[in-house]
Amino acid sequence: MAKKSVKKALQKAAKGKAARLKPVAKQIKADAKAFEGVGKRWKPAQIEEAFRRFQAQEPEPKGELKHSNPFTLLVAVVLSAQATDAGVNKATPALFALADTPDKMAALGEDRIRDLIKTIGLFRMKAKNVYLLSKKLIEEFGGEVPQTRDELVSLPGAGRKTANVVLNMAFGQPTMAVDTHIFRIGNRTGLAPGKDVLAVELELEKVIPAKYMQHAHHWLILHGRYICIARKPHCDRCIIADLCQWPGKTATTPPPVAA
Ligand code: SF4
Repeated sequence: MAKKSVKKALQKAAKGKAARLKPVAKQIKADAKAFEGVGKRWKPAQIEEAFRRFQAQEPEPKGELKHSNPFTLLVAVVLSAQATDAGVNKATPALFALADTPDKMAALGEDRIRDLIKTIGLFRMKAKNVYLLSKKLIEEFGGEVPQTRDELVSLPGAGRKTANVVLNMAFGQPTMAVDTHIFRIGNRTGLAPGKDVLAVELELEKVIPAKYMQHAHHWLILHGRYICIARKPHCDRCIIADLCQWPGKTATTPPPVAA
């Protein structure tokens, strides 16, 4: 009896679910190949067209992390490692109401910071980093957030991605912070294939026209977060579906975008 029901389930799956799952399996295979960084690359005209559409659709894209100055942006980005922006945004209003400068954050102390961010993953380590980076800003940078990558990555808890976000968002520098979303898009679409995040970052900085670099980071993050998601991307809603080189895409005609 048990054997019969298993057989029936398998037959059902073969007709129904298994058939629906096939594209996902194909997509996973396509991703595995794409993430080797060997995909077909876009030509300059395709890159120009993609960013023309991103700009037409959203001329002033904004990051989602709440902050009020370069220091609170830096802290929010450090807190966002392996956490969602929404999760960070739940904790930071109370933290920043008490401490929106390195002086106030250092005065708050590590224990109090830890209490205020305890809903965020890895909060113990992050509280220590936020406290120590505030002290370092006071002692070595006159209480200001530095504006070079080398100086930023010297701060506790701040890596290359954090530095690039801060340089781009707080100081308007044409940097590209490659996270999991941008790595996926760079490789899937053919915009900037690369086998690791640094290769994709350097390629993006090379191929994206200078006039789009200020907002390129946000356009790509938002596209990866809401359209070109990891599993079952929304190709039918994708404004670059015709340009995309990913063999797993499920649409080739993009919806209209304002000219
Ligand atoms: S068509 Fe768009 S959503 Fe689909 S894989 Fe390509 S970039 Fe992603």
